[in-house]
Amino acid sequence: MTDRDRAAACQGPYGGENGLADCGDPVRFEVARHLRAPLRVCPVHLGPALLLADGVLWPPVIILVR
Ligand SMILES: [Zn+2]
Repeated sequence: MTDRDRAAACQGPYGGENGLADCGDPVRFEVARHLRAPLRVCPVHLGPALLLADGVLWPPVIILVR
């Protein structure tokens, strides 16, 4: 199993750093962050993650995972 497989559940909307990472939906996007692991989120949490997660680059750098 690869890292990508293990991380296939949404980490949104705050990247698991604010104690509210209980979404668990399938990951669709990966948001690049400064000095942090990329944030992998579902479509619902893409917007909130861009605005609220720590270290998100601006303008945002978003990769479509699948
Ligand atoms: Zn989510």
